[in-house]
Amino acid sequence: MTTLICQSCSFIGKESEFNPAKNITSRHEIGDTYSDLECPGCGALAYPLPDSEHAIILRAIIKELIAALECALSAWKCGHGITGHAGELAQKKLDKVKKAGGTWL
Ligand SMILES: [Zn+2]
Repeated sequence: MTTLICQSCSFIGKESEFNPAKNITSRHEIGDTYSDLECPGCGALAYPLPDSEHAIILRAIIKELIAALECALSAWKCGHGITGHAGELAQKKLDKVKKAGGTWL
């Protein structure tokens, strides 16, 4: 199963998560890399993700995930629960991770 990345919004997911591209012929010019799949979110064409980029993105996702956990933990440690500013920050970071991670998470 190939992992793809949207050329516009950078959504990453498995091939099965992307939709068949509409108007394929009008969306390609000679010399373009061919793709017949489009992003479920924004509709832009999606292309296979090279292994090297795969690793870079995974590392970035893990970094964000750790940052989100640290925010949540600091909110919890000061006795306010996962609320307030640190809680919001943690939620934002987690949302970002989920979006970037696609179905990996
Ligand atoms: Zn997209």
